[in-house]
This record gives sequence, structure tokens and C-alpha cells, in this order.
Amino acid sequence: MQLLVASNNPKKLKELHTILAEAGIEGVELIPLSEAEPYPEPVEDGRTCADNALIKARAGAKATGLPCVADDSGLAVDELNGMPGVLSARWSGRHGDDAANNELLLGQLAHVPEERRSAAFVSVCVLVTPAGQEHVVEGRWPGRVLTAPRGEGGFGYDPLFQPEGEERSAAEMTPEEKNAVSHRGQALRQLVPVVAAL
Ligand code: IMP
Repeated sequence: MQLLVASNNPKKLKELHTILAEAGIEGVELIPLSEAEPYPEPVEDGRTCADNALIKARAGAKATGLPCVADDSGLAVDELNGMPGVLSARWSGRHGDDAANNELLLGQLAHVPEERRSAAFVSVCVLVTPAGQEHVVEGRWPGRVLTAPRGEGGFGYDPLFQPEGEERSAAEMTPEEKNAVSHRGQALRQLVPVVAAL
């Protein structure tokens, strides 16, 4: 069975591949966007991560006739009422400018004391079938926002995020350590029974 993964990020495909293999699911061929028949990618203008993940997966399933998995994630900061959230990638106004996003977030929280710096990485993963069935799951990785960046690994807000129960920032963890506990891994693992039932 073929399963379209509506992402241009090869790391996400690999992570889903690993999770399916660990769960003993065989016979699922993951198709990256780059190998699918090209179709116009939809505008991600949802108000929540779930909205955007559904926009991507519905478009993929409709265009290709394959079941389609898509995800959308972000950092939800309690002191900012859950923002940057769905706007995480473009918080500073420039899509994907991690350094500017981190600097803006640090400035916004400059006077926020330790006990009010709680946050969570949130990932919403959805699977949409060509027949229109929709499965939505969410993973959360709780922690807090540091007062200065730490570590060289990861991406996005990782240098500013200290997971609960960790002394290190997410950027100081190895990719394997992070994948084992992160929001995306938690969400993707919840999709395993859905993929198995396809
Ligand atoms: P995406 O939906 O997975 O592309 O993530 C959107 C944005 O959320 C990214 O550009 C990052 O700014 C932020 N983000 C999501 N997951 C992570 C993570 O694991 N570490 C750091 N930043 C993340």
C-alpha cells in the first residue's frame, strides 16, 4: 500500500518510516511529495495546527487518490496565550527565519519570570483517506522557554526550549533522544493503528 507524506522534509518521512518499522508494520510504501504527481500545494491559512495539517492532507489525498499523512507543529507559550503556535515558522514576519523568530520570542519574554515561562511543542498529525475519512492526533512535549539560547543541534526554537525533566535544551539532545520523546514522535506513534487498519 502506498501512503503519501505531504511534506518536503525528508527527516519527517524518515521518522514515520522508523516508527512504522518499530511497530512491525510492513508493506507500506511512503511516498514523499517530491515523488508524487505534482499538484498545486494549498495555502496553509488555517487558524490552528490541526486546520493546516488537514488542509495539506486533504489536498494530497484529493490530488493523488492515495491516503495522505500531513503534520503541522509549533511552540505554544503559555504566557503568550499559546502563540507562536500555528505562526511559529513565521513569528518574526519572515517564514523560516529561525534566528529572528528566536530573538523576537526572547525579547517578548524578557521580563517574564522563571515560573511563568512554561511552553510546549505541539504537533498535530492527520491521515486523510481518498474516501474522506479523517484521523487527527496530537502530541505535546512540555517544557519551558530559556532566557538565552543553548546548544547547536536541532532547528527552530530548540535552543530556547528546555523539556520537562531535562537539564539540557532540545538543541543539546541527539536527534535520536529527541525523536524518542518529542511532540512529533508522540503524534506519529498514535497514527500507527490507523495506518495498520488501512
Ligand atoms: P512544522 O509544521 O513542523 O514545519 O513546524 C513549524 C515551525 O514550528 C518550525 O518552523 C519551527 O519554528 C517550529 N517547530 C516545530 N517543531 C519544532 C521542533 O521540534 N523544534 C523546534 N522548533 C519546532
